[in-house]
Amino acid sequence: MLNHSATPAGAPVAPAGPFLHHATPAPGLHVAFTGVDAGNLAFHVTGGPGDGNGPAAVAAARRDLEARMGVAPGSTEYLTQVHSARVVTATGHGWADRPGAPEEADAVVSRTGTEPLAIMVADCLPVAFASRPVGARELSGPTAVAHAGRRGLLDGVLEATVHRLREAGAGDAPGDIEAWVGPGICGRCYEVPEEMLRDGAARVPATASRTSWGTPALDLPAGATAVLQGLGVAVHRVDACTLEDERLFSHRREPGRGRFAGLVWRTPERTGEGS
Ligand SMILES: [Zn+2]
Repeated sequence: MLNHSATPAGAPVAPAGPFLHHATPAPGLHVAFTGVDAGNLAFHVTGGPGDGNGPAAVAAARRDLEARMGVAPGSTEYLTQVHSARVVTATGHGWADRPGAPEEADAVVSRTGTEPLAIMVADCLPVAFASRPVGARELSGPTAVAHAGRRGLLDGVLEATVHRLREAGAGDAPGDIEAWVGPGICGRCYEVPEEMLRDGAARVPATASRTSWGTPALDLPAGATAVLQGLGVAVHRVDACTLEDERLFSHRREPGRGRFAGLVWRTPERTGEGS
C-alpha cells in the first residue's frame, strides 16, 4: 500500500488547459494554480512591446480563465498587492466591475466562501485556503487567498489570514482550515544576502536555507508550511519551483514577463438533494 506523507482532501485532477494544478476538495469547491499557458494575469506587468502583455491581453486572459473556471466573466476578485500583511474582505465585485485599481492588500477572505478569489505571483508563494465552519464535516466555510513573499511571510500575512478566516466562521479545531501552498521559488534557488537569511531565520526559523550552490537562501514553502501547521492548519504542498520550471512565471528568471495565479472558487455543483 502506498504511504503518502501528504493527504490531499481532494484528489488533484490531471492538469488541463490553464491549470498546472487543480483540486476539488469538496463538491463544487475548487483550488487551482495557473501556469504560463493561462497567460499573464497582472495589469501591472507590462513587459515589452509586442509581447501580448497589454491591458487588453490581460483582460482577455482573465476572461478566458474564468470561462475555464466556470464563473462569470469579470467576477474574480484580484488585489493590488503591496507585500504587506493586510487582509481584506471580498466585496462581491469582480475585477471588471470595479473602476480604478483594486484595494491594496495581500490577502482576501470570502466570508461566505462564494466569491472567486485570485492572488498573483511569480516566485512569491500563492496560498489558497478553504475551511469548515465550527462542527461541520465539509469544507463549506470561508475561503481566502494570500500572497506570501519574503516580506509578507515574515510580517505575518498567513497568521492574519487564518485569524480573519476564524473571525468569519472557520472552525478552530486542527484541520478545520486547509491551505494549499502553491508554486514559488524553492529553498535551493532563492538566494539572499546573509543578513536577510539571519533576519528570516530569526523570525520564521524554517525559512533558513542554502542554495544548491551553497550560498545563503530562504525556503519560503518550508516557512509557510511551518507557520500554517503551527496554527493548526492542514497543509497541502504543490512542490514546483518557479525558477526551475518554465511552465511558471518567475520574476527572477524573466522579470516583467507575467504573473500566474492562485485561485479558490465555487461552482454550483449539487450534492444530490433536490434537483
Ligand atoms: Zn528551485
